[in-house]
Amino acid sequence: MKIVRVGFDVPLDRLFDYRCDDARESDIGARVLAPFGKRSMVGVILEITDTSSVAIARLKPITKMLREAPGFSPDDIQLTRFAADYYQHPLGAVVMSALPVGLRRARKTPVKSLTHYGLTALGATRTVDSLPARAATQRRLLALFLAHRSLDDAAVRACAPTAKIALRQLIESGYVATCEGALTHAPDATTPNAPEIIGPPLTPDQAAAVTALLADLSAFKAHLLLGVTGSGKTEVYLRTIDAVLKKGRQALLLVPEISLTPQLEATVRGRFPDTKIVSLHSGLNDTERLNHWIAAQSGAARIVLGTRLAVFAPLPELGLIVVDEEHDASFKQNEGFRYSARDLAVVRARQRGVPIVLGSATPALETYHNAVGKRYALVRLPTRVNNTPPRIVCINTRDVRLDNGFAPPLLTALRERLARREQSLVFINRRGYSPVLMCHDCGWLSGCHRCSAKLVLHAHDRRLHCHHCGYQSKVPMACPDCGNADLSPLGQGTQRIEATLAERFPQARILRIDRDSTRARGAWSGMRDRIEAREVDILVGTQILAKGHDFANLSLVCVVNADNLLYSTDFRAPERLYALLTQVAGRAGRGVTQGDVLIQTEFPTHPLYAALRDQDTARFADDLLKERRSAGFPPFQYQALLRAEAPQLDTAIQWLTRAAERAREIDDAVMVYDPVPAGMMRLAGRERAQLLVQSSSRNRLQRFLAAWRDALSEKKASAARWSIDVDPLEF
Ligand code: ADP
Ligand code: ZN
Ligand code: ZN
Repeated sequence: MKIVRVGFDVPLDRLFDYRCDDARESDIGARVLAPFGKRSMVGVILEITDTSSVAIARLKPITKMLREAPGFSPDDIQLTRFAADYYQHPLGAVVMSALPVGLRRARKTPVKSLTHYGLTALGATRTVDSLPARAATQRRLLALFLAHRSLDDAAVRACAPTAKIALRQLIESGYVATCEGALTHAPDATTPNAPEIIGPPLTPDQAAAVTALLADLSAFKAHLLLGVTGSGKTEVYLRTIDAVLKKGRQALLLVPEISLTPQLEATVRGRFPDTKIVSLHSGLNDTERLNHWIAAQSGAARIVLGTRLAVFAPLPELGLIVVDEEHDASFKQNEGFRYSARDLAVVRARQRGVPIVLGSATPALETYHNAVGKRYALVRLPTRVNNTPPRIVCINTRDVRLDNGFAPPLLTALRERLARREQSLVFINRRGYSPVLMCHDCGWLSGCHRCSAKLVLHAHDRRLHCHHCGYQSKVPMACPDCGNADLSPLGQGTQRIEATLAERFPQARILRIDRDSTRARGAWSGMRDRIEAREVDILVGTQILAKGHDFANLSLVCVVNADNLLYSTDFRAPERLYALLTQVAGRAGRGVTQGDVLIQTEFPTHPLYAALRDQDTARFADDLLKERRSAGFPPFQYQALLRAEAPQLDTAIQWLTRAAERAREIDDAVMVYDPVPAGMMRLAGRERAQLLVQSSSRNRLQRFLAAWRDALSEKKASAARWSIDVDPLEF
């Protein structure tokens, strides 16, 4: 009698046994439909055995094997097992979350051939310059068609979410036509011997980096590619990927947020026109996601480009993993299955015996520490490819009188750029900083009554919004506490800065870019087109602008309020501020002009600003490492957070207090802190608290966590909802 152990997407940390007489060893990883309670559910076979703790007579048979799409390979299972153990999450839930939605359902999921579009004979005679300069998206799309000859829907959309409109225009012009049948990426018969596109000649630093990365492609090795902004890291990735493709292997390229970086996808597609490239990210619909997943699994796709979820993409011939902007916090999932895709990518590379490249101008301290300790190889690109680095100057705001939040030198610099018809970027650090309504008589602040966040004033609808739970309300006529009618925003949010700029520079075309203004689909891409077409003089924006964008005509970056992150309570705040400012500063002078960066600060002599001025990331990281070592923080300690939420804070704290007692019984060498209210204490009516534990040994912490989790799961009903966050990034 064969028994299969099946994992389901349920919050129970166990597998479920079923009878399956014809099960074979090769069925491990296969999808099945099986009765579960009163329902029928899709699960994945994770083990096959002859015995069960359940009486054989009570075991149900599986309903059916779902063979229309192949399941997981042993390699994939090995990775998900590691992830489930390491992140203390149920194996079944991890395995199921690694599947595209289309395969988590029992419904038969026919693999449709997607609509695609091909360049017509007329289109092939065109050049990008035959289109008007204003039609930036059309031009970009035509360039892609000229490189590839055909594109599927997802590739079109990756070019720009408004690309559908541009596509229609190209179709109307007769340059592009809709095609039927399967999309082939094989070289077109009409263009034999298409010249191999090899990219620009490498700089000596790039050449040395590529040589180091290619030294051994057949063994695991982790490389930190530490390259200043504009040093040409992308070119190094492309050369390395090229070598891996030529060896007949697949490459996985992970990026932080694909919706913000379609430029990279276009670059990769442009470089490898005859290679099937698929993307995996949350911007795809279920059918696309399924098709791309299957293309990766079948080996048809040779390059997979995706966000953190793509770390689980099945890749039978994996030969290389690249993680771009490896320090980016979006590689960590912050709810449910809280994994770090960057860290799992390293595990995966090791399991598969392939190299991995972690690229960044400002690596995570954990990664940098590994490079310093020689566990990772360090490859450097110390200079920009094309031009000189931006000049970074700090302006001491204690020495000057601010004019509506701006130091006079900033206004002067902005005026100069306007006169020279160059673009400027005014960067506002939105973290811990927003236009909260305040009564300057009694000190009342507009708080959200549903959670502990402050309500933020939005100018466009003159309403107060809670950015955490979504609550909205009208602006009160007067202070609810003292009746004072003169309420005004505390500090300067993006909108007030915009208003000041509009008043000072009435002739300037100002564009605000933040989460709100880019939320609508396609909004950001439309803005990018306007910036590229020089229809904008001053960009005002938040973090969203910091990520890898390349604006050729931008020569000035002004940072208005960086200091509030400098003295934040989170021990990672300086590391993050440094990374953020380096990225923002890196936007200046990407074209031919010299870039200037002006930073307003009350603390111009702080080591962070000094290192930033010298662009000396290594020095700053070395200093931070020393601090972390003496303070007993990661990467010298390994941490986990037990998070609990309950209707009342007291309940959560009491529950955590008992959990802390259990913890001390399990391993008294693991350091257990006291429970504290969470940074964002209330969320949609529930109150949250947390308990930090740490150890200088990763293994010891892992053994402890497993035992602790078992102990906490013992009781059936718990007063609090809880979860464990391993290597937490948010406190
Ligand atoms: P990073 O990712 O390191 O910030 P990029 O990869 O964006 O830098 O490269 C910066 C710019 O330099 C890009 O416009 C890129 O096309 C260009 N570039 C990269 N390598 C070379 C090279 N070897 N020769 C000429 N231009 C290059
Ligand atoms: Zn008041
Ligand atoms: Zn709220």
